[in-house]
Amino acid sequence: MKKIYLILLWVAACATTYAQKTYVHCGNLIDGKASDVQPQMTIVVEGNKITAIEKGFSKPGKDDKLIDLSKKTVMPGLIDMHVHLEGETSKDQALQRFTLNDADVAFKAAFYAKKTLMAGFTTVRDLGGSGVNTALRNAINQGVAVGPRIFSAGKSIATTGGHADPTNGYRKDLMGDPGPKEGVVNSPDEARQAVRQRYKEGSDVIKITATGGVLSIAKDGSGPQFTEDEMKAIIETAKEYGMTTAAHAHGAEGMKRAVLAGITTIEHGTKMTEEIMDLMKEKGTYFVPTISAGKFVAEQAKVPGYYHPLVVPKALEIGPQIQNTFAKAYKRGVKIAFGTDAGVFPHGDNGKEFTYMVEAGMPAMEAIKSATVVSAGILGMSEKLGSLEAGKFADIVATDENPLQNIKTMEKVSFVMKDGVVVKP
Ligand SMILES: [Zn+2]
Repeated sequence: MKKIYLILLWVAACATTYAQKTYVHCGNLIDGKASDVQPQMTIVVEGNKITAIEKGFSKPGKDDKLIDLSKKTVMPGLIDMHVHLEGETSKDQALQRFTLNDADVAFKAAFYAKKTLMAGFTTVRDLGGSGVNTALRNAINQGVAVGPRIFSAGKSIATTGGHADPTNGYRKDLMGDPGPKEGVVNSPDEARQAVRQRYKEGSDVIKITATGGVLSIAKDGSGPQFTEDEMKAIIETAKEYGMTTAAHAHGAEGMKRAVLAGITTIEHGTKMTEEIMDLMKEKGTYFVPTISAGKFVAEQAKVPGYYHPLVVPKALEIGPQIQNTFAKAYKRGVKIAFGTDAGVFPHGDNGKEFTYMVEAGMPAMEAIKSATVVSAGILGMSEKLGSLEAGKFADIVATDENPLQNIKTMEKVSFVMKDGVVVKP
């Protein structure tokens, strides 16, 4: 009898701890949906979920917790649709492919993930690494590493010598002949195999390098790198396995092929023509601009010896064009999702992208929506992420100033809660 009584007491104790609520007083609230900032609001959090949004500053109960953000602007946790958590720009980044073991990469990736979260990005899409990115996702989900929710592409898919061929620039005897398992394909059959391999390895999204790129040790950054058949095989297979697709693309031809084949997002989009913009509108394709990466590589290319000699002219040519392309695409009505290519520049600086977007003509509120509600939709997470509403995950960030008045405040997010847990007080 005594035993049962103790158990009942214990159950009751657990129930009361569980019912503790956190009241977040918000000076200004940007909920991700409304077009206006709402002054003086309260978010009620229970466990890892938002249970209510109330007008005014609601009074917490005796056992509840109060978080006072009454001097801050509060918004949904930010989403970056294009990062690479496994590495970060440095002069010897190319050499590191020969000096680092997976374990070294994993520790660094965990560090970068934490930096990203502290910058207010509670969710990211990792568009290409070795597979450590997927392991990191699992570790964060299990609570053994601290970082944003990750939607991982695992290893990107390329063609031989293409932008994501992992042995580009190697000595011939080290190059070997990577195949579909390693993400290198040269036929529609191999393309399907590569997608299935990624599914097997737990990828959430399929990333392809539809054209050459800036930082690979290869001559051309613009030409198409997949045949239409290969592209179709990849996108169709990904759809069959319930995965969305993202295409790295600088040049017009590879970009157009990807859009026509039904890609979900175009990354970078440097030489996007008006014809492609219209095709994207027609097909509902999203543009993920990564202006930050373009600006960073164009600057770094001027530092002697920072990049490989094959990379320098590409960085100088492609880098400065992206912001202009973004301005045109936005004006023409192409759907925009927020993405930076962090890793190409230091992790944690993701917020600068907001400044660049606003500079190029996008209203601040729309830029914030591109990094919240819009991106959540692409991730298939509209029910759980992207806005502050009852029933959604308590991913909440705040800035000292109102970003509609000073967008640069997005570069120094001062409060971060993920999954109901305050990670940056
Ligand atoms: Zn990238």
